[in-house]
Amino acid sequence: MTASPSEISQLIGGEFTQGRSQGSIEVFNPATQELLGRAPEAHPDDVDAAVASALAAFQEWRKSSPQQRMRLMLDYQHLLKAEQKNIAELLSLESGKTFEDAMGDVWRGIEVVEHAASICSLGMGETLENIASDADIHSYLQPIGVCTGITPFNFPAMIPLWMFPLAIACGNTFVLKPSEQDPMTPMRLAELFIEAGADPCLLQVVHGRAAAVDQLLEHPDIQAVSFVGSTPVGRHIYTRGCAHGKRVQAMCGAKNHLVVMPDADRTGTVNALAGSAAGAAGQRCMAISVAVLVGEADAIVDELAEAMGRMRPGLWNEDGAAYGALISPAARERVLRLIGEGKDAGARCLLDGSGWSHPEHPQGNWVGPTLFADVTPEMSIYTEEIFGPVLCIVSVDTLDEAIALINANPNGNGTSIFTASGASARHFEHEVRVGNVGVNIPIPVPLPFFNFSGWRGSFFGDLHPYGKQAVRFYTETKTVTSRWTEASGEPINTAITLK
Ligand code: NAD
Repeated sequence: MTASPSEISQLIGGEFTQGRSQGSIEVFNPATQELLGRAPEAHPDDVDAAVASALAAFQEWRKSSPQQRMRLMLDYQHLLKAEQKNIAELLSLESGKTFEDAMGDVWRGIEVVEHAASICSLGMGETLENIASDADIHSYLQPIGVCTGITPFNFPAMIPLWMFPLAIACGNTFVLKPSEQDPMTPMRLAELFIEAGADPCLLQVVHGRAAAVDQLLEHPDIQAVSFVGSTPVGRHIYTRGCAHGKRVQAMCGAKNHLVVMPDADRTGTVNALAGSAAGAAGQRCMAISVAVLVGEADAIVDELAEAMGRMRPGLWNEDGAAYGALISPAARERVLRLIGEGKDAGARCLLDGSGWSHPEHPQGNWVGPTLFADVTPEMSIYTEEIFGPVLCIVSVDTLDEAIALINANPNGNGTSIFTASGASARHFEHEVRVGNVGVNIPIPVPLPFFNFSGWRGSFFGDLHPYGKQAVRFYTETKTVTSRWTEASGEPINTAITLK
């Protein structure tokens, strides 16, 4: 028996509500295409009401002590940990991810909440005494106001948690517009935030597509925009947000290369390549989509095809399922088109997953693991982000050729090298123009106290999410220069002569 679809709410002005809604968005289980729920598509009045409520809440929250904000994050972290399995189950159902992957998605978000709990030390300003006679200088990091976040489908827990906990810990309020493809997990995160003790107006959630996003980008009361998603949309968000005077950080698409040196540990490399290319159905911005085999490393090709061939897709809770279905029929069609174009362009298809279907759930958005060799940089399977379980092999003669290939790619999100040589690893680490680099690690996603640093076409903006840069993004620096004399007890604001 299938459960009836749930009514998914927005969170506006502290109420879980359908709002004025101008239509509904259907949310499906990617493995079965069963309808899971309907979310309201925000009416412009809903967006205005969410921003107005967030702005009103900001007037009080900006005066809260950092200790109060820290304690809220500690309580939220505690609740998220207790609820991790339930969140992961919901996340699996609407995103298609295996349960293990979904647990990881939630866990990486919890780590950001832990980091946000350090706001008392992260949010400190600077001081310098005696910069002139009787004069000192100090700076505060002050909250900036109402911030917004626009998030993609592929990490419905981790990516909203990249954004609103840090923004709110900095003293701001937040309007989240999650992906319309899996909005139930972000709504659950919002419910838990309130359960943890947050004022229900600190975080607002509206649903919708381009129209709601554009309204947020142009809204006079929004100060900062965090975006994660595809490159064309990110470019639009960045230009439109900046044109309306917002601070914008836009984390975008990727094409990540893993370089295999002839001296790399063979079995470890093959397993890492297969898992990082087809795991999570390849729907990760840090998935490896190109294997660059240097010289005799070419010898791993057959083993790689065997390892990928053993990866069987399946339902989120199915024994032995290596990954789940793609998010939508449209995503599957796109991947199948690119596989077809790869074959037509002359790439050697060593493993073809385009005909794969689940025996009991053929209506799901399945694609089996797919491996191409003899791929060249002008083929669309190389130039486009496939976002499916497809790995392309490019063969080169030297490490410098591999580095030149990577540096010529417009994207710069992640890359890795597998080698037993410290000298090769160091050369790669220093010469490659990509923000997140792995050495014998296929998916080098940094922890939240570092920065997630997409470079070039993978990022528009200047301050990256996580860590110190995230705190800078969500705060404004105010620098105060003051002089107090014993005689007056008043500051003298006339010209200061520097010592
Ligand atoms: P997407 O760009 O289609 O959607 C992202 C968000 O933008 C969604 O909330 C969507 O509703 C909104 N949106 C879509 N079209 C819009 C438009 N025309 N105007 C305004 N808003 C619009 O991305 P997706 O398919 O949900 O996610 C996959 C993409 O995200 C991949 O390209 C992946 O590489 C990227 N991604 C990047 C990172 C990173 O950190 N760099 C992390 C995760 C995912």
